[in-house]
Amino acid sequence: MSSKRSDNGFFQHQARKRFGQNFLVDHGIIRQIVRAIGPQSGEHLVEIGPGQGAITSSLIESGARLDVIELDRDLIPMLRVQFEQHAGFRIHEADALSFDFSTLADNEDTKLRVVGNLPYNISTPLIFHLLAHRHLFQDMHFMLQKEVVLRLASGPGDKNYGRLGVMAQYYCDIEDLFDVPPECFRPAPKVMSAIVRLTPHAQLRWPANNEARFAEVVKLAFQQRRKTLRNALKPLLEQMDAQTLDVDLSLRAEQLKVPDFVHLANQIEAHLSP
Ligand code: SAH
Repeated sequence: MSSKRSDNGFFQHQARKRFGQNFLVDHGIIRQIVRAIGPQSGEHLVEIGPGQGAITSSLIESGARLDVIELDRDLIPMLRVQFEQHAGFRIHEADALSFDFSTLADNEDTKLRVVGNLPYNISTPLIFHLLAHRHLFQDMHFMLQKEVVLRLASGPGDKNYGRLGVMAQYYCDIEDLFDVPPECFRPAPKVMSAIVRLTPHAQLRWPANNEARFAEVVKLAFQQRRKTLRNALKPLLEQMDAQTLDVDLSLRAEQLKVPDFVHLANQIEAHLSP
């Protein structure tokens, strides 16, 4: 057990590295984050990793409904004591990586708003998991390592540009909102953090004919980002007459914009599944 009731009745919790625990302690930053989210009564929020409730209490005060998903069972009792008397508050002791978010959705009109100071060790797989559920979400606000925010928001010609950015931008609008320095947390992480907003497009801007093919092309292309498309995409291209593709295969993945990837994937798809 890493939580126990101390003499004065409060729970004490030793932060755990295994769960990526860096608790927010700076009240100015907490206010800034909640202002950026702007929760309203009548909305339905989901917080991933509430921890000791640094953001949770402000989210509840807005009058919005709130579901929280916390993996560390030692944190559950203090969350119950602090918040459970609020109507519309629910705790899920679960792993957000395998959580089925569709079980929280009420109806088509009230979409979920996801919030989380995410555990940095699982942020990329968690973002991919959430992108798979994107139709349920109005928006998502995350605290991430600054580097991951740059990867989400960057475009061609940027060293941070890669699979994560292309896939996130295919589905969402990305806004890098503001930086959060290490001293706002306890324990302090080694890296700079930032708050990012992802807003799923109501209508995809550049819909691919086959999204699985699009995802496959993007993954293959960036697996060997220094190679030309001709080489990186060999496993797919050798199944067709690549000469007939209306794409410059001497380019490298990092030179292609999101709609260029869609065009490329559509061309390959047309050849493989005519
Ligand atoms: N929101 C709090 C805590 C952030 S630390 C704050 O800002 O202070 C990250 C939190 O995510 C921790 O509470 C950790 O236990 C939790 N967590 C880690 N892995 C998780 C997972 N897979 N699913 C859900 N919560 C997780």
